[in-house]
Amino acid sequence: MPGDLLIENVMVLDPALPLGVVDIEVVNGVIAEVGPGLAARRPSGVIDGTGMIATPGLINAHTHSGQNLDRGVAPNLPLDLWLIWVVYGGIPFSPDDSYTLAMAGAVEMLESGCTAVLDQAWLSPDAFAEHAEAVMAAYADAGIRAGLAPMVQDRDIFESMSFESVGTGAPAPFSSALDPAVVTGWMRSFLDRWQGAHPLLTPMVGPSAPQRCSDELMASLADLARSSGALFHTHVLETRTQIVATRERYGGRSVVAVLDELGLLTSNTSLAHCVWMDAGEYAAVRDAGATIVHNPISNLRCGSGLLPLGDLLHGGLHVALGADGAASNDNQNMFEAMKFATLIHTLYGSHRQWPTALDVWSMCLRGGARALGQRLGSLEPGARADIVLLDSERHVAVHKESLAASLVLAEHGSSVRTVVVDGEIVVDDGVHCRGDRAATARRSRALQQRIHEALPERQAVYERHVEVLTAVHDHAMAQPVPIERLAAITPAFGPDPAR
Ligand SMILES: [Zn+2]
Repeated sequence: MPGDLLIENVMVLDPALPLGVVDIEVVNGVIAEVGPGLAARRPSGVIDGTGMIATPGLINAHTHSGQNLDRGVAPNLPLDLWLIWVVYGGIPFSPDDSYTLAMAGAVEMLESGCTAVLDQAWLSPDAFAEHAEAVMAAYADAGIRAGLAPMVQDRDIFESMSFESVGTGAPAPFSSALDPAVVTGWMRSFLDRWQGAHPLLTPMVGPSAPQRCSDELMASLADLARSSGALFHTHVLETRTQIVATRERYGGRSVVAVLDELGLLTSNTSLAHCVWMDAGEYAAVRDAGATIVHNPISNLRCGSGLLPLGDLLHGGLHVALGADGAASNDNQNMFEAMKFATLIHTLYGSHRQWPTALDVWSMCLRGGARALGQRLGSLEPGARADIVLLDSERHVAVHKESLAASLVLAEHGSSVRTVVVDGEIVVDDGVHCRGDRAATARRSRALQQRIHEALPERQAVYERHVEVLTAVHDHAMAQPVPIERLAAITPAFGPDPAR
């Protein structure tokens, strides 16, 4: 339940507030006042913030909790090949496993200063409602703020790729076909169950990607999002090959135009990746007020390319930041995601367009708040009280810009001492203090053991498909597209035709 507390004598670092040592008063889970002398009002329930920096909790606006223990499992591969490892080679999960996976991620995020997550979790069709219940229960027990956008699709992965192009038929489908009406029914029940049910939890609508869903399913999910007012989240144009695949699927039309026609380009929508949009597509997203979620680490892990982040921020787009699933990251550390987002965009363009650490930190807070549709990412009065206290030993607090840069570039979460979500303390002295921390670790280790014992089978599944999928991938990569998002450097010893 939302809590009351007072943090005394703390250095406040917030994008919109002046840097300074003040008190923060929280009433009923909301920041009531920030200023000097507030501690005198309250004889007890005061946290001493001396030597601490208070910042808004970081927001992870895109992940997949089912991958939380898949660290180091898949090699660096283009997404078309990586998907085989990650989506279709894994062991079957029980609802208890889904709970363990979500809890493992929640603990990792909270202990590294992230207080809110948008989880596009894949939930087994065998027991969709039970898995949804388990993931939501884990987030409630952990005390993290969460939006859950179950990642549904009714087309097999191979249906979103073009096999005729390489003169072969599609391999046997990985998954059996799902009835779009049934999938929509699951989603309707999920929204009915969770809308307004818990102060920290938000049910969302989250098809995997338009090209992985039938037109019927996309239309019915769009209707559902509209009629329920639910937030909407999906993957869009993550890779170069998806330009080719989606243009083919939609008869030459842009997938962004398809989303617009479905009424899905609105301020209620957040779109993961969007690396391969053209100017018109970015303008459509901006004009609709939708949010792009940047995932710099998974984009590198899968060689997906470089989002033109500086242009987007200068162009007025709303951008949030995601860790993405641990199978393409391989952690859920938002300090690390911010550092990558600050540094990788120096690989191209003028330095005048490079995003600063302060830009990226503000983007993570404001964009994340927008993707979750709540007043978050701020220490201003009226915002939800999601607050992180960091030991200032390693961070010199003189200027806001340099302190933000110090957190973004030098911090990894090890200075995090206290984390407050909705006015409740959930991390104390750097350790998650909700529930049984040792039991969480034990369950995670047991599940990780099962995941790793199944790796030879995943390797075998990958090897069965790698040849044909490589041909499909290479063919799509050879098609001309009007934009470029990949960096090219001169080879060390001149061109080698064998590579
Ligand atoms: Zn993703």
